[in-house]
Amino acid sequence: NAKGLSGKNYLIFDENMKSKRKNAMRIEQDLKWGLRENQFELYYQPKFDINTGKVIGSEALIRWNHPHIGFVSPIDFIHIAEKNGFINDLGKWVFEEVCKTINNWKNEGIDALPVSINLSRVELYQEDLISYLNETMDKYNILRSLIQIEITETTTINDIKFINKKITQIRSMGIKIAMDDFGVGNSNFSHLKDIPIDILKIDKSFIIDIETNSKTKIVVKSVIELAKYLGLEIVCEGVENYKQLQILKEMGCSVVQGFVFSKAIITDEFKKLLLNNKEQNMESL
Ligand code: C2E
Ligand code: MG
Ligand code: MG
Ligand code: MG
Repeated sequence: NAKGLSGKNYLIFDENMKSKRKNAMRIEQDLKWGLRENQFELYYQPKFDINTGKVIGSEALIRWNHPHIGFVSPIDFIHIAEKNGFINDLGKWVFEEVCKTINNWKNEGIDALPVSINLSRVELYQEDLISYLNETMDKYNILRSLIQIEITETTTINDIKFINKKITQIRSMGIKIAMDDFGVGNSNFSHLKDIPIDILKIDKSFIIDIETNSKTKIVVKSVIELAKYLGLEIVCEGVENYKQLQILKEMGCSVVQGFVFSKAIITDEFKKLLLNNKEQNMESL
């Protein structure tokens, strides 16, 4: 299996508030330059069928290799890009990169699998979002079923009517919508009935103590069942070990994403996985 695939370590920011602020300022100043200078890269984290061990898709995750401060985690720059609006440019770059990569696979005769892309709330407000998505997919001749978009629950607070309209437009193009990080932040079960989604991603904070906390187990089991009744696909994020995997399998979760199988990896490494995508004997795990 894909265990042991290497990922890069991030620079851990100094806990000191002053230097944190300094770093944040630097990040804000350098984002534009970084995009122009090609310092961003997309990694792909495979998603696995829990029953066969085969890769069934991936999530594109942005990485920034800053020439002076090293690897910067998206956790440290996405929120800044959201605040200053640069996320719109960055998101467009991400979307085009994914389309390019899928097109490359096709040209090399590789069976492409769906790629999911994270979209910030801010990005949904771009007037040209729908046309940009369509034009870019046309440019690279991308099947709509190969693209998925992940939004977080917090995306939908305050403006559910507008967001739902956007989501409905995107879905009508043939793109599936996933609700990311379900269960944390401004969680609200009414989201499940009010927002038109296809996929529910259970947040990693529920997986981390699933072995040890019987209440967590009950919550996750109930959410999986609920999702099934609602006709949603389930993805469990942050699965790190075989014990968690076994528990989730018994609960009827079908897709997992996590370090147990693979971190996010560079395109070449992910391509190797696609080329060598065999069933694993999951019983022996
Ligand atoms: P996310 O969308 O929830 O992505 C999953 C995060 O969990 C990734 O962190 C991934 O590396 C990490 N992860 C996956 N498996 C495991 C595991 O088994 N254990 C642990 N501890 N972590 C795991 P990453 O890549 O640092 O991204 C963080 C967040 O940054 C993402 O969370 C997403 O919200 C945001 N992000 C990343 N790329 C993009 C992007 O292109 N656009 C936007 N708007 N946001 C992005
Ligand atoms: Mg995501
Ligand atoms: Mg997530
Ligand atoms: Mg997240």
